[in-house]
Amino acid sequence: MVDEKFKLLRKNFKQNGKLIIDHIKRNHFDPWNFAGEDDLCSFCGTDKDLTKEHVLPKWCFENDPERFFETVINGSKQTFIKTAIPACSKCNNETLSEVEKHINNLFRDTDLSNDYYEYEESLNVIRWLEIIEYKFHVLNFRRKFRRKQSTDFIPIFRDVPMSVMRLNIELSPYKAMAQLRKSQARIKRQDKESRYFSLVFWRSKNKQSLFFHTMDEHIFFEFPEYQMAMFYFFNKEFESNYDAEKEAKEIIMKNYG
Ligand SMILES: [Zn+2]
Repeated sequence: MVDEKFKLLRKNFKQNGKLIIDHIKRNHFDPWNFAGEDDLCSFCGTDKDLTKEHVLPKWCFENDPERFFETVINGSKQTFIKTAIPACSKCNNETLSEVEKHINNLFRDTDLSNDYYEYEESLNVIRWLEIIEYKFHVLNFRRKFRRKQSTDFIPIFRDVPMSVMRLNIELSPYKAMAQLRKSQARIKRQDKESRYFSLVFWRSKNKQSLFFHTMDEHIFFEFPEYQMAMFYFFNKEFESNYDAEKEAKEIIMKNYG
């Protein structure tokens, strides 16, 4: 049951969430003072049986591992396959993959031309998107600004975490750290009722899968195989889905011109 998996994630973060963030801080926050410790699972804090957990599931990219997507981390493109964070085998293969399977089935089995997502299922989609957001924040600290081939490469920045390079957050690593904490705190909260109107779905006939994400703000997916597009605001709350959809479409227009 997917409810059990979300519950386990909340429990693990309540027990070890601080330990995980403190570890990231010691090892990926201050380039002049990295502790150089071994990795931990980003979801339960164990250092045993570590695997690579992809930030975005492969089915979001029509199962093509070479597909690129863009994040605003430093304006560089990233392939799906290289975008992973450490997670133990249990969290990766039992907990998170169960959640992903549930969401993938939900999308596949819902035809938006004559159906809609049930209330509780919409809240589960929100819970899933919050996990993705958290993974981006963890990745952001683990990624280094290493683009030697690029003319943009500045040697002094070679070990600086990308979070520090994020111009859109006023270059403050402290703000990135606060956002990481916030993204974990969201997952720890069971109640998502007030978030319901911040998620919108609509039917789409686009032939290409699309994706964009702005840290701590919003996330957008377009899935051609499910004829569906989806937008979620991580921070904003709305009076109705209609208001959220209107604002989401304005952002999409701005993004794609
Ligand atoms: Zn784990």
